[in-house]
Amino acid sequence: MSAPAASTVTFESRFATELAEMAIPWKAEEVPAPRLLVLNEPLAAELGLDPEFLASPEGLPLLTGNAVPDGATPVAQAYSGHQFGWFAPRLGDGRALLLGEVSDVEGRLRDIHLKGSGRTPFARGGDGFAVVGPMLREYIVSEAMHALGIPTTRSLAVVATDRSVQRETVLPGAVLTRVASSHLRVGSFQYARVAGDEGLLRRLADHAIARHYPDTAEADKPYLAFFDAVISAQASLVARWMLVGFIHGVMNTDNMAISGETIDYGPCAFMDAFDPATVYSSIDENGRYAYANQPLIAEWNLTRLAEALLPLFDDDEERAVEQAQESLAAFREQYSGAWFAGMKAKLGLDGSVADDAASPVIDELLALLKAGRLDYTSFFRRLGTVARGNAQPAGDPAAEPDGLVAWAGRWRALNPDAALMDRVNPAYVPRNHLVEEALSSATGGDLDPLRRLLEAVTDPYNERPGVERYAEAAPESFGPYRTFCGT
Ligand code: AMP
Ligand code: MG
Repeated sequence: MSAPAASTVTFESRFATELAEMAIPWKAEEVPAPRLLVLNEPLAAELGLDPEFLASPEGLPLLTGNAVPDGATPVAQAYSGHQFGWFAPRLGDGRALLLGEVSDVEGRLRDIHLKGSGRTPFARGGDGFAVVGPMLREYIVSEAMHALGIPTTRSLAVVATDRSVQRETVLPGAVLTRVASSHLRVGSFQYARVAGDEGLLRRLADHAIARHYPDTAEADKPYLAFFDAVISAQASLVARWMLVGFIHGVMNTDNMAISGETIDYGPCAFMDAFDPATVYSSIDENGRYAYANQPLIAEWNLTRLAEALLPLFDDDEERAVEQAQESLAAFREQYSGAWFAGMKAKLGLDGSVADDAASPVIDELLALLKAGRLDYTSFFRRLGTVARGNAQPAGDPAAEPDGLVAWAGRWRALNPDAALMDRVNPAYVPRNHLVEEALSSATGGDLDPLRRLLEAVTDPYNERPGVERYAEAAPESFGPYRTFCGT
């Protein structure tokens, strides 16, 4: 059936028409009894969609893909990917559909995408479904990331399908409606490259340039400039992850967006106690995607992107490789620069503090945090109070690790700016124990803990009374923590 006019929003199908070789027109599985679990009203408004309509019996089929808006051609997107280092030439949307693109109220083109909408030709052994817990996890964490100011795909809604989905146990099914500046991935370029069709590769790159980096079209070497722009976006993104203690958990090349947005929230988590070796994902047995490895993996993934783009860099392969290597060399510098500037800000050290003075203070602190296994988020937030001279660095003087008080003396001698710290050190992140609490309550039918958690994490820098427990570290009884992909 076709959807009644939701508003003035017009769907386009640019990806589906410009890159038809990578788009299989497909239909979402019928959802007879959709039930709205959560709707992002501010995001709906940003898209020009009426939240009341979306929540109504006429609007819900739009969110499950059962009503196709005029102008939309839902497609499953093809892509390849290196999964834990191994190349899979044909992955694609096994349980997802791109509904199409819409222009938001500011004129930006945004993808509207469904996750959990049923099997597609890319489903392989999968059932094509998603379940309530992992879809709400993506909703919570992506909206928290957005509120933290970190580029990310957004979540418009989660709708329960009333379907029983077999996982380790039987779980309630759900569809997530996701919004992104696009769903072009490193794996999309790998797909075009292994297809051996240079025309397709070029069209894909042109499409990506037009959508994300239009300035690069004017460069002497547009495709190299495009690659440089993706490198910069990823260097900045991963630095932001590291600074807030975010662990993506499954940085396969199919889960890395060309736009520089965080994408595909699976076994992701925020680090509790500071330890660079932290891994939460149950499937990451060798710690490939451990916290501290993330910048290296980003660089590895960008190298795979370079390999895919080589034919566009230069007709002479040797020249193309040289140019790609030159571009790639910038990643480390840009990442380190972004991370260091961000860490200085976390410590309240502004431009007046020389990098040479900040550097040893940062190194010593990270060693102390690791040795004391201190809670990453609350430590930095409390440090603002320490900067004002109103607290001890670890909170509890009895639990103060050796050396922390002496460290704080050296740091305070640099005159940290407490107001700056409060702007960059969040009080509230989606802590693992709180996410689990919200998800298990929601799976059991009680949405209150989810609502309260969302209230806290969507306003993360503004510390306020009434939500104290959302700022506190996990209780001793919680852990060791494990996350699951939720497939
Ligand atoms: P992910 O780990 O979510 O990034 O997914 C990796 C690949 O597996 C993608 O091609 C997904 O579309 C596919 N996939 C994940 N879960 C399912 C499922 N339940 N049914 C079909 N395909 C799936
Ligand atoms: Mg994925």
